[in-house]
Amino acid sequence: MIATKGYAAQTATSKLEFFNFERRDVGPSDIQFDILYCGVCHSDLHQVRNEWGGSLYPMVPGHEIVGKVTHVGAKVKKFKAGDLAAVGCLVDSCRECENCKQGLEQYCYNGATGTYNARDKVHGGVTYGGYSKQMVVAEEFALKVSETLPLANVAPLLCAGITTYSPLRHWKVGKGHNVAVVGLGGLGHMALKFAAAFGADVTMLSTSPNKEADARKLGAHHFALLNDAKQMKDLKSKFDFIINTVSAPHDYNALLRTLNTNGTMICVGIPPTPIELMGFALLGNRRSIAGSSIGGIPETQEMLDYCAAHNIVSDIELININYINEAYERMLKGDVKYRFVIDMASL
Ligand code: NAP
Ligand code: ZN
Ligand code: ZN
Repeated sequence: MIATKGYAAQTATSKLEFFNFERRDVGPSDIQFDILYCGVCHSDLHQVRNEWGGSLYPMVPGHEIVGKVTHVGAKVKKFKAGDLAAVGCLVDSCRECENCKQGLEQYCYNGATGTYNARDKVHGGVTYGGYSKQMVVAEEFALKVSETLPLANVAPLLCAGITTYSPLRHWKVGKGHNVAVVGLGGLGHMALKFAAAFGADVTMLSTSPNKEADARKLGAHHFALLNDAKQMKDLKSKFDFIINTVSAPHDYNALLRTLNTNGTMICVGIPPTPIELMGFALLGNRRSIAGSSIGGIPETQEMLDYCAAHNIVSDIELININYINEAYERMLKGDVKYRFVIDMASL
């Protein structure tokens, strides 16, 4: 076993604290890398605080992981020592079911293995994430990273990036579409960048008036306040797509009414409690509501390559790991610009 260290939550109510633990030895198809940066996703906070239920403790969160390879197993082809490597939200899946065969590992019929807070079906125990120094992962679930982009700003692409890129690609969002992005946090700011890069006309819907100038810099052509009833009414039947990234309960019906004929609201945010849906808000304009979960391994690589080719990265606030509990409190207040990334040199 490989001794390493990280930050872990011991219970749903405890703060994250220093934690010693072990990674498995590097198998023939595994790589080991030193984690240099790890992004802080709102899903980390949901799971640390057991807001979705079923959390496993101690929990080392983190699934926006980038670093430098130190060891590779004998059968590894994609990586050698010294290469950059990245890991997102998945570290394994059955690799045999129809979804896995199509590169949709996130929808593995047998249940994909999350990077943390998951039972490891192959090696036993529980998976530990990226708020740590070293990572061991099967090469099939490790991504190649551009040497040219600033590495700390690449980390959030592994979740916030792919989670917004994937639905925009699936629904073929681009030129001629009116798109709204709801919630300007980690996912929201990447949705703005991608939707604008794909040629859509983009509106930011936010609860934070002080984010307007940034929203426009990030790619929004228009800005409106989500909790201003008049502004929302003025947007009636405007959008072809809504990418909803909001992390807390809010009014889906008001948002649905801003969809044009055949419009779709794609929910990527995961509020911890159910949300009321009015039939009338859906059936007017023949609207749809949909969801989308992260992205598979091939599409994650495609997204990273797209970002390298188009010089797209996340806007980040780099923090030391001992700031993580404060970062969570700020994230809860929507005070994120626009992703916290942990500098693992501070651990
Ligand atoms: P984040 O950085 O905290 O951003 C969420 C934003 O939502 C906030 O900045 C705020 O933006 C807005 N917001 C927060 N509370 C709100 C409320 N009560 N009403 C209206 N708007 C509110 O979070 P994130 O990391 O982007 O994650 C967003 C959500 O996506 C989380 O639930 C996370 O678990 C989920 N997620 C899902 C997937 C997936 O595969 N589908 C992947 C990753 C994350 P404004 O200040 O602009 O209003
Ligand atoms: Zn995430
Ligand atoms: Zn599968």
